[in-house]
Amino acid sequence: MNMEHEKPNSIQASRKKGIVEIEWGDSHKSYYSFSLLRGACPCAFCRGGHEEMSSEPPEGVFEVEMPDSPATHLVGIEPVGGYGAMLVWEDGHHDGIYTWHYLRALCPCEECRGNSKK
Ligand SMILES: [Zn+2]
Ligand SMILES: [Zn+2]
Repeated sequence: MNMEHEKPNSIQASRKKGIVEIEWGDSHKSYYSFSLLRGACPCAFCRGGHEEMSSEPPEGVFEVEMPDSPATHLVGIEPVGGYGAMLVWEDGHHDGIYTWHYLRALCPCEECRGNSKK
């Protein structure tokens, strides 16, 4: 099983640009805006209940516009057990654990979005 594409080589956050950049094991690069990441927060609270939690990004997440606020200011990325990362936001929210699988599925690039459409 080749899971290279779901293992990041590097993760970099630029607060200046408001972008998180991930380079994956297959050398694909993903660029996520902070607002996309916050809008896609996978925690039970943001998803509206445990039954809404999923290992896949919610439908319509790419259309969600988050206003510029402490909620969309990323202050830290903490690795979680080798399978994902916890994102810490300026408003104090840090319940979302973004698995590598989830992040790769969330890649907003044209190539990935094109592939995910039926
Ligand atoms: Zn959340
Ligand atoms: Zn992509």
